[in-house]
Amino acid sequence: MQLDKVFENNKKWIASKLEVDANYFEELGKGQSPELLYIGCSDSRVTAEDLMGLGPGDVFVHRNIANMVVGTDLNSMSVIDYAVNHLKVNHVVICGHYSCGGVKAAMQSADLGLLNPWLRNIRDVYRLHKKELNAMEDEEKRYERLVELNVQEQCVNLIKTATVQKAVRNRGLQVHGWVFDIHTGKLIDLKIDLDGILKNIMEIYHLD
Ligand SMILES: [Zn+2]
Repeated sequence: MQLDKVFENNKKWIASKLEVDANYFEELGKGQSPELLYIGCSDSRVTAEDLMGLGPGDVFVHRNIANMVVGTDLNSMSVIDYAVNHLKVNHVVICGHYSCGGVKAAMQSADLGLLNPWLRNIRDVYRLHKKELNAMEDEEKRYERLVELNVQEQCVNLIKTATVQKAVRNRGLQVHGWVFDIHTGKLIDLKIDLDGILKNIMEIYHLD
């Protein structure tokens, strides 16, 4: 890749924005009030705004390997706190994707060094849903299901935080679990029954 091309592209992009609205960057510079916090995978094929047809100012974005919400990860916790408490987003989305390298790696037993503790969080998801996953004979289907269950468990991890619990209670913040199907480009709402799942576990995680 010629990095010069990136700067050329940038010039064209500026021109295309100004063509539609001469004050575009002036407005952008005034501040942000996105409605959506998107937590997705770092995978280069899974863009955030682009696949949703949204642009600058629309989405607060956090990406990491396999779209994880880990309670001790200061990075994602800060993003969630800022988006929910300060930007007051109305929706938080965890977006996984099929053919996720992080999820695939967690299904294998290779020692990946520094990545081990991160991937262990996905192995924990496997352990929680071992019965269902091991009953699936087709490995590809099992892999896709683990992608979906990982999204579900990361939504649960979100709800474990005091920040999200309070915003759900006080102003109806909504948590969504989606999957991007990399083979078709389609965005799928998993329609996770969070209320149902939470009914069983909130006695453990409830914070006042
Ligand atoms: Zn991925």
